[in-house]
Amino acid sequence: MSRWLEVGPDNYVLTTQGSLLNTGLVVGSERAMVIDTGGGPRQGREILAAVREKTALPLVVVNTHAHYDHFFGNAVFADDGVSEFWAHGNCAAEIEENGDSQRRAVAAEEPEMAAGEGSDVQIVVPNAVVKDQPVLVDLGGQTVTLFYLGRGHTDGDLLVGTATTLYAGDLVEQGSHPSFEDSYPEEWAGALRHLSALRHRYEFLIPGHGAPCSDQFVKTMANTMSTAVRQAVQATRETPDDATKAIPILPYGPEQSRWFIKRLQETRAHH
Ligand SMILES: [Zn+2]
Repeated sequence: MSRWLEVGPDNYVLTTQGSLLNTGLVVGSERAMVIDTGGGPRQGREILAAVREKTALPLVVVNTHAHYDHFFGNAVFADDGVSEFWAHGNCAAEIEENGDSQRRAVAAEEPEMAAGEGSDVQIVVPNAVVKDQPVLVDLGGQTVTLFYLGRGHTDGDLLVGTATTLYAGDLVEQGSHPSFEDSYPEEWAGALRHLSALRHRYEFLIPGHGAPCSDQFVKTMANTMSTAVRQAVQATRETPDDATKAIPILPYGPEQSRWFIKRLQETRAHH
């Protein structure tokens, strides 16, 4: 039984167990696009099997960013004949340089991937690169726009827009706090405001994890992050030696607030 949720004609989303990763599927008349491949060969095969319940067409893959749960399943798709893997240039470079170092993160769910032993455990680096300009990918009767709103959750978050649906990757997360480890908090707040302004063009917005999001959800996420940036900047100005004082006032959990402050300091230093 397929668990695909239909979000517009020939647009689907599959939520897999664990981190509730959302994989997108857009089916054209000649090709279909798979958006994010899972955290290793086990999840990748589960996703591919679900894709094959929907379509037998040749596939192209998009990785929304360089976090393991979004690209460690690529090798399964390469094995299925996929030769076109799209990503933002910064994402592709990060996967190439540091993809291997993320293997330890999947020791529990994907032991083969963690060990680098077994089939479909190689790191497949995206070879079709998007930079600052949007790229249109024609799937036959369905054109997908791949575009970049600047740095945010990472320095290479790619958005995938169709006639009805925006697949936003982890720029938008539903059901858990945003993840700031590799983020650019100030620019992320800006990207979210931008995204919120675009939201009306799409009937559906699919986050990287969790349930589809309303206009209000994205607006709130944008406002919350802008406010958090202001609060943290002010707090670090008042007590420059102990920025952790800002943690209790921030609208995120303690661990994510710690990362938020750390990344805000690191990324603002370059102003
Ligand atoms: Zn992520």
